[in-house]
Amino acid sequence: MPSYEFLCGKCRKEVLLTLTIGERERGEYTCPACGGKELQPLMGSFFSKTSRKS
Ligand SMILES: [Zn+2]
Repeated sequence: MPSYEFLCGKCRKEVLLTLTIGERERGEYTCPACGGKELQPLMGSFFSKTSRKS
């Protein structure tokens, strides 16, 4: 299973979660540190910005 890095918007910790595709698409993941659901993916958001060159 792939692992994803997230930044928790609640406790501001970077966490690494192993998710199935379905779990990730449905947002069925929580911060292991605080149990919050305000997780922002760290990778992915980086890649999507590379096309925006000034
Ligand atoms: Zn947290």
